[in-house]
Amino acid sequence: MFTRRRLLIGGAALLGTAGTAGVWLTGEEASAPAATDSAPAATGSAASAADSAAGPQAQRALKPSAYRLQPIAGYGPARRTLAKPAVRRKPLRRVDGRGRTMVLTFDDGPDPRYTPDILSILRRYDVRAMFFVCGEMAVAGKDLLRQMADDGHVVGNHTWSHPLLTRLSRSAIRSEMERTCEVIEEAYGEPPQWFRAPYGAWNRATFKLGAELGMEPLAWTLDTLDWRGTAARTIADRVEHGAAPGVVVLSHDAGGNRSQSVKALREYLPDLLDAGYHVTVPRRKYA
Ligand SMILES: [Zn+2]
Repeated sequence: MFTRRRLLIGGAALLGTAGTAGVWLTGEEASAPAATDSAPAATGSAASAADSAAGPQAQRALKPSAYRLQPIAGYGPARRTLAKPAVRRKPLRRVDGRGRTMVLTFDDGPDPRYTPDILSILRRYDVRAMFFVCGEMAVAGKDLLRQMADDGHVVGNHTWSHPLLTRLSRSAIRSEMERTCEVIEEAYGEPPQWFRAPYGAWNRATFKLGAELGMEPLAWTLDTLDWRGTAARTIADRVEHGAAPGVVVLSHDAGGNRSQSVKALREYLPDLLDAGYHVTVPRRKYA
C-alpha cells in the first residue's frame, strides 16, 4: 500500500501541473501516455488482439430479446438541448490533462451482483463515475440506472447486446444504439451523451450514428484488463501506476465475475484521492 501510494504520488507530481478543475475533453490530437500501450487501437476495422473486452463478451450468448420498447413521451426531467456533436474520426481517449483529473468508467452493466457495490463505494467517497451500459442489461437493471442518476453518475451507451459493430449493417448498428438510448432515457431520465463501441471497434458508421443520436465517442486511456480474471491487487496496481492527469480508466461491472474489480476499486480509489486526484466525469464540449 505504502509503496503503491508513494509511486502514485511520485507519478502524479511528475506529470501533474496545477490547472483548472474543468474537464474538457481534448480532441484526437491528444497523445496517449505510455500507459495506453496495452489499450486497443482506438479505431480499426475489427477488434484487435489487444481488445480488452473481447474475452468474456465473446462468450456471452446473445439472448433473444423478448423486450419491446414502448415509445417514450415526456418521461423524466425536462430534456436539455444539446447541439449535435461533430462526426469524429477517432474516439476521445482522455480528458484535459490540466490538473489531476481522472475518469473511472465501468462497462457492460449494470449487474445486480456487482454494480450496487461499486455505487456504494463511489458514494462513500463522494465520487462520480461513468457507466457504459448495455441495453439488455439496463432493461433488467432500471433501478440501478435510477440510482446512477440520483448519485450524479454519467450513463453512456454501450449498445444493446455488445456485438462487434464493425460486422453489422448500418441499420443493425442503428438499432443497437437507438434501443439503448431509449432504455437509458427511460430509466436514467436523460438520453446518453456518450457512447463506447464494444471491444473498442469503431468505424465510420458508428461515429456517424453516434453523432446523429447526439453522443460523443469515448474510449479509454488505461485498460485495467479486469475481464481477464485479474486479481484485485493487480488491477489496483495498474490503475495506480497508470494514474496521470487526464487518464480515463476502463474496467467492468458486468460480463463475468467482477468481484475483483469491486475489490480493486476499494483499494485504488482512496489512494487516488489521497494522491490529490480529482476523480470525476467529463463535461461535453457541446453541452
Ligand atoms: Zn464492453
